[in-house]
Amino acid sequence: MSRHPIQIKLSEGKKEKPDPTTLVFGRNFTDHMFVADFDEGRGWHSHRIVPYAPVTLDPASIVLHYGQTVFEGMKAYKSDDGSVRLFRPEENMKRMNMSLDRLCMPRINEEQALHALTQLIQIEKDWIPTTWGTSLYIRPFVIANEAFLGVAPAKKYQFYIILSPVGSYYKEGIHPIRILVENEFVRAVKGGTGGAKTAGNYASGLKAQQVADQKGYSQVMWLDGVERKYVEEVGSMNIFFKINGEVITPAINGSILEGITRKSILQLLRHWNIPVFERKISIDEIKEAYENGVLEEVFGTGTAAVISPVGELNWDGYKMIVNDNMTGPLAKQLFDTLSNIQNGKEMDPFGWVL
Ligand code: PMP
Repeated sequence: MSRHPIQIKLSEGKKEKPDPTTLVFGRNFTDHMFVADFDEGRGWHSHRIVPYAPVTLDPASIVLHYGQTVFEGMKAYKSDDGSVRLFRPEENMKRMNMSLDRLCMPRINEEQALHALTQLIQIEKDWIPTTWGTSLYIRPFVIANEAFLGVAPAKKYQFYIILSPVGSYYKEGIHPIRILVENEFVRAVKGGTGGAKTAGNYASGLKAQQVADQKGYSQVMWLDGVERKYVEEVGSMNIFFKINGEVITPAINGSILEGITRKSILQLLRHWNIPVFERKISIDEIKEAYENGVLEEVFGTGTAAVISPVGELNWDGYKMIVNDNMTGPLAKQLFDTLSNIQNGKEMDPFGWVL
């Protein structure tokens, strides 16, 4: 399939770049964005890079009413020699197509999308902050922009890629977070949309997150939607447990988002010959391991933090303090290795960086 040409219209002025030491997540955006249109019968067309600007939507656009939209999240890094490094972007494009399928939306051409992304990043490379831990967050997304109030898949869509310089997740070094196990609300159920990166999953999670915030916890741990027994994931991260020398993460089951960091951690652990299992794990099993003194480490994995050690798990008032509320050695080793590969400070033995 031949590649669509990308029209480029550069912005006249340039925004002032934010101070990398005070950057917060998702508040600053670069000078340009990528856009493509989809019309039934014509497919994806009008691929273009244009000045970053508000989107004009008909108020009846399907995305505004029925949430027909998907998104992705990944990062670009700049290494010390100034080269731009993208971490496994082809995996994000693949996952975006899985999400698009689930939401009855048209697939994108992954190779074309990667080409568009690299073009856009080339134009915006001065926006990639270089202080340790900072990066350029990449947000591709597709919206249904057909004006129609019927509940049906749209016939018109737009694909965007926007970029946002982000600060270091750990300004004072990697440290553990406190997690509240969620007993009332659920994020996803078998057969639902939990495995897709779609807006509704995040909107429906806000309530539990708000309650956790009020109680002083930074994220919620979701249990399965049927029995409220098996662990699914944490906020916007996948979760790993180290119990008695073995690492366990919930198996992909349709309701968990299959993280690219998760995939990379599994590969690293297997490479290091550390026993690792993808299987169901119940909150009772975790409590039992804790009581037996064999719950060695708990950590979340995701693009934002890479690794987020868990220092406390609160299940209905029962508090499990993990590894004396300190970052465990495995979490630290995984964090260092993955961050170093991403930033070009360590060899990339798996060919993850583009
Ligand atoms: N679970 C959810 C619900 C998420 O939103 C994310 C972030 N994309 C993850 C897990 C981690 O995925 P990744 O490692 O690809 O960032």
